[in-house]
Amino acid sequence: MASIQQPEPNYLIEQLKYCKTLPTLPSVALRLIDLAEQETSTLADFAEIVKFDPALVGKLLRCANSPFYGQWRKVSSLSDAIGLMGLNATISLSLSFSLRGLSPEDGALGETHFWMRSLLTALAARTIAIELREPQPEDFLLSGLLQDIGVLAMASLFGSPYVTLYKEAGQHGTLLKQENALYGIDHAQVGAQLLKQWRLPERIYESVQFSHLARPSTAQAAPEVKHLSACVAAGAAIAEAWVKGGTPETFGDAYRSVRWHLAISPERYQNIIKTMGDEMPEMESLFEFDIIDPALLENIQVSARELLDLRNLRVEEESVQASDHVQALERRIAMLETHTQRDPLTGLYNRVYVERQLWHEFDRAIRDRQNLCVAYIDIDRFKSFNDTYGHAVGDQVLISVSHRMLSAARLGDTLARYGGEEFVALFPNTHLSQAEAVLQQMLNAVCSTPCLTHEGEASYVTFSAGVAMLSFEQKNFHDPLELLNAADRALYQTKSTGRGRITVFQPGSE
Ligand code: GH3
Ligand code: MG
Ligand code: MG
Repeated sequence: MASIQQPEPNYLIEQLKYCKTLPTLPSVALRLIDLAEQETSTLADFAEIVKFDPALVGKLLRCANSPFYGQWRKVSSLSDAIGLMGLNATISLSLSFSLRGLSPEDGALGETHFWMRSLLTALAARTIAIELREPQPEDFLLSGLLQDIGVLAMASLFGSPYVTLYKEAGQHGTLLKQENALYGIDHAQVGAQLLKQWRLPERIYESVQFSHLARPSTAQAAPEVKHLSACVAAGAAIAEAWVKGGTPETFGDAYRSVRWHLAISPERYQNIIKTMGDEMPEMESLFEFDIIDPALLENIQVSARELLDLRNLRVEEESVQASDHVQALERRIAMLETHTQRDPLTGLYNRVYVERQLWHEFDRAIRDRQNLCVAYIDIDRFKSFNDTYGHAVGDQVLISVSHRMLSAARLGDTLARYGGEEFVALFPNTHLSQAEAVLQQMLNAVCSTPCLTHEGEASYVTFSAGVAMLSFEQKNFHDPLELLNAADRALYQTKSTGRGRITVFQPGSE
């Protein structure tokens, strides 16, 4: 094997562009990627694309009604499903479903094994995301599913010598090393390149590449991408444990790897394994693939229960804490970077993040000659809601309202909890009429169905909003705070003239 000449990596990347045998994307996936790229995509655009693929619509509905989304009310229309799951999640899920259809030209790769591992990684990454209360778990699913897409590409590029290498490598780390030695490039790089070529979102292809690093948290990337990569890497380790038979020992070994990437306690780790087992049948039917033999699944559930008795899990937990201060600190910093951006109750961005983003978007709008809209949103009469049902129920309503608003936001919009029952939304490169339309969709998503049913009685909430636009032509605001204040003043007008509506800021109208 040593006699194989190493091609130049750049040459390989060029070759990827023209390689005819590479897996190609189904047309629905291509159109979805286009949609994900546009900052102005709406639910309607999405519905327009997927309606021609009844199988996909069926799966999305199934998914919305499945334990994946733990719904109490039946979701029967596509728009309800999108409303429940959110646009970004629906696009990620749809891409996952359509990408699963890819297969290498000659199938020699031992496809079954390949997809088994990929689907397990996807499910593990998604389950970790939910355990860590990440707001966009479907990104983790998609990124996990695609983590090894580079293997398919390399099998197409290099044919049977590569397939032999893949089958004989055993350990994943060994495979990467051998690929580099023989081809001067590995499937992490090739996969990322292929996904970039397919124009998948940056965070997805970056996480595919970085999740193969020994330590994704050290990658030169945004904290969110590093976190996504670390979760996918941890997911791959868990998938490996499932593939190796899912015994307490293989899960014990995988915990070492998971702990290396993420600060997850043994109890949470056990929970992740159990949840994966519970969701396995749903995952299998959604992706039309038998991942695990049902008899084996039962054994694995038993293994999961025994997991906490494993001494090495505890020892691992302690040794990481005791001997590896620097790495533990690194992990914490990475987590902190993410958590300092998020509101812990709703998972939305927080005030610190949105204010920083506002400065950034304001500068960008002026520089790129684009408009920027900012909205201030406040839930109506929320105090009396709290007084009637109590603070805990109020909290649940805040979560539900946040998710409903997020489901109506477009891909490039930023929605943050600014404090209490107040929210701020940024709409980059958007005109007032468009921002108003998105806000109206958010309002519909919030108030069209009850946020709470108590003793048979349904309760609804509404919000009031004010929106202001920085016009790059008029340069009508000097700084971001002035723009935000204008939105706040418009909100005040809504409140004083009857709530449950959106007011557009007009200078001099107060
Ligand atoms: P308005 O329509 O004028 O906005 O009336 P309001 O009652 O919503 O406004 P007000 O500012 O008087 O009260 C806001 C209430 O929001 C007060 C507080 O009980 C509630 N609130 C703020 N933060 C939280 C939270 O984190 N959880 C819960 N449950 N309630 C909160
Ligand atoms: Mg308020
Ligand atoms: Mg209020």
